[in-house]
Amino acid sequence: MLSVKGIDVFYGDLQILWDVSFEVNDKEIVVLVGANGAGKSTTLRTISALLTPRKGSIEFNGSRIDHLLANKIIEYGIVHVPEARRLFPEMTVEENLIIGSLYGEAKRKRFETMEYVYSLFPRLKERKKQTAGTLSGGEQQMLAVGRGLMSMPKLMMLDEPSLGLAPLLVQEIFAMVKQINEAGVTVLLVEQNVRQTLAIADRAYVLENGRIGLTGTGKFLLNNEHVKTAYLGV
Ligand code: ATP
Repeated sequence: MLSVKGIDVFYGDLQILWDVSFEVNDKEIVVLVGANGAGKSTTLRTISALLTPRKGSIEFNGSRIDHLLANKIIEYGIVHVPEARRLFPEMTVEENLIIGSLYGEAKRKRFETMEYVYSLFPRLKERKKQTAGTLSGGEQQMLAVGRGLMSMPKLMMLDEPSLGLAPLLVQEIFAMVKQINEAGVTVLLVEQNVRQTLAIADRAYVLENGRIGLTGTGKFLLNNEHVKTAYLGV
């Protein structure tokens, strides 16, 4: 579905990604794990066209997407749920959801999709008239994911959904990611929470200093000596 081939990405003169290649197949959960600053968010920002690679290409279902505008990327069916959620705190839950469905079919089916989002997250339905800024951290993350679903994505990219959440909520968020995937949405997840993420991943890539190192199934990487020492503290 998604094929990233040999991309180099810079902020000004500073190179962050070096020859990064990876693939996401239809219906998979693929995880990019790596330390703080490894380039995980930069990778997602490049796929969603907030950054342009200086070398390499990105294809989605066989079409080049690396020189499109960000709104086109959404129309192709890719949605990016960014780190720190980027909600509109003064707007209500419902208004935040509506912003996720500004284009095409997603706009036409807005209220149908909203009912689906509310069925996944009944707490959002209870709080639909409440402003986003008054929600708890876990609820805000649900809203960010819900807003992502409002665009009816084929591929959902999630940047550190577990960040800043209590352990019980982290489990809930990962269970929700699995549920969304089982409903047919392909998932590309970026995380520092290596152990729990690898446990739900079909496949994973380790990003180290802007380069892809190891790759394999979640289970393989959980048992890999380098991953254990560098990321799992064992
Ligand atoms: P984190 O979990 O901290 O977000 P990450 O793996 O997602 O880590 P990135 O956010 O992709 O890492 O950052 C990779 C590198 O790029 C870091 O060294 C960071 O300081 C740098 N960087 C990120 N954003 C910018 C920017 N706008 N301008 C310059 N450098 C940046």
